[in-house]
Amino acid sequence: MMTVRMLTVRNTKTPLELYVHIPFCIRKCQYCDFLSGPSDQRTRDNYVDALCREIRSISQKESYEVVSVFIGGGTPSVLSGEQLCRIMDEIRQAFALSEDAEITMEANPGTVSLEQMKLCRKASINRISLGLQSTVQQELDMLGRIHTYEEFLQSCQWAREAGFDNINVDLMFAIPGQTCESWKHNLETVAELLPEHISAYSLIIEEGTPFARKKLILPTEDEEYQMYEDTAEILRKYGFHQYEISNYARNGFECRHNKGYWQRTEYLGVGLGAASLFQGQRFSNTSDMKVYLSDSTDPEKIREDVTTLSGSNEMEEFMFLGLRMTEGISERQFERNFGCRIEDIYGSVLTKYKDMDLLEHTGEFWRFTRKGIHVSNPVLADFLLDE
Ligand code: SF4
Repeated sequence: MMTVRMLTVRNTKTPLELYVHIPFCIRKCQYCDFLSGPSDQRTRDNYVDALCREIRSISQKESYEVVSVFIGGGTPSVLSGEQLCRIMDEIRQAFALSEDAEITMEANPGTVSLEQMKLCRKASINRISLGLQSTVQQELDMLGRIHTYEEFLQSCQWAREAGFDNINVDLMFAIPGQTCESWKHNLETVAELLPEHISAYSLIIEEGTPFARKKLILPTEDEEYQMYEDTAEILRKYGFHQYEISNYARNGFECRHNKGYWQRTEYLGVGLGAASLFQGQRFSNTSDMKVYLSDSTDPEKIREDVTTLSGSNEMEEFMFLGLRMTEGISERQFERNFGCRIEDIYGSVLTKYKDMDLLEHTGEFWRFTRKGIHVSNPVLADFLLDE
C-alpha cells in the first residue's frame, strides 16, 4: 500500500509592521510638534499618488508577512474614503497581509463621516483610534482642538454603525487649568462609553509649539502624579488593565501594532517623515514635502539618518522599549536574542534600581514598580551602554 505523506506548509515569513503617515490636519493644535499641517485638495491628491508609488516600490511579498498596519498622522481622516481604500489596495498588492492583521486608522472628530467609515471598514481597516483629548469644551479650546465633545460622540456612533468593534480613545491630562476632579470626570465619561482601548498621555510642552511661547498655569507635579495614579485606578473599575506606561485595554484589545513596536518587531514606515526599523537598520523618510512628492520611489533620495544598529544598540532598545510595557522584559528572551545573560550586561543597573524599589524582578521578568513608572525616563537612560 502506498503511504501518502502529508506535507504541512509552515509559515516561515518574518512578521512585519507597516506605518503609513498622513501629514495633514485641519488646523495645528497648540501643543503639537508632529509632522502635520493644513493642506489643499491638490496637495492631498498628489500626496496619495506619491504614497501609493512608494508602497509599490518597497513591495516585500516573499519573506515578510504584514501583521499590522497603522495609518497615523496628522489626521488620516482628512482623506476621503476612496483615497483610504486606494492606500489599502496598494498595501494588499505590495505585501502579504496576514489574515488577522490589525489595521488601525487614526481619526479626529470633526473630520469623519459615516460613508467614509463604512468604506474604511470595507477596505478591512478594523480598528479606529479617535483623538478626543478631553470631554470638557474649555479644555478642548485651550488645546486648540477643532472639535466638540458632541462631534466626538457622533464619530464614535458612526464608527460603531460602520462595524468597528475595536475603538481607541486618546485622552490627555495635565492640561493647563485642569484639576484632578476634571480629569476624573474625563476618564469616567469616556470609560462609560465602553471603548475597547484608552490611551492617556500627559501633556508635554514641546519646543517650537505655541504652548512653549505662552505663560501657562499647569497642574503641579503632585497633581500630575495623582492624575496618573487615578487613571489606572478608575479605568480598572471599568474593566481596563494597564499594559504600558500610557495605555489601557480590555482583555484581548491591547494594540498589537504598538506592542510590536515595543518588542522591536521590524517595521517599515511609508510617507513623509515616517521612521523604519528594518533589517538591522533604523532610518526615516525625508520631511520635505517637495522631495517626497517627486522622489518617493527612490530610497537614496528620501531616506535619511540611516543607522546600522550595533549589538549594543539592539540591547539598549530591547531594554528601554520593553520596560515601557507593564509585563516588563523577559530575561530568557534577552538571552535568546543576544546569547548572553542580562545580568552580565546590566547586572549593576538592575540591582541599583531594584534596591531603590524602582524595578522589580518576578519570575523571569524585570519591570517597573508603581513608584518606578513615575521616574521612568532617567531610569531608562541608564540602560544606554558605552560602546
Ligand atoms: S490633530 Fe493631532 S497631529 Fe493634528 S495638529 Fe492636532 S495634535 Fe497635531
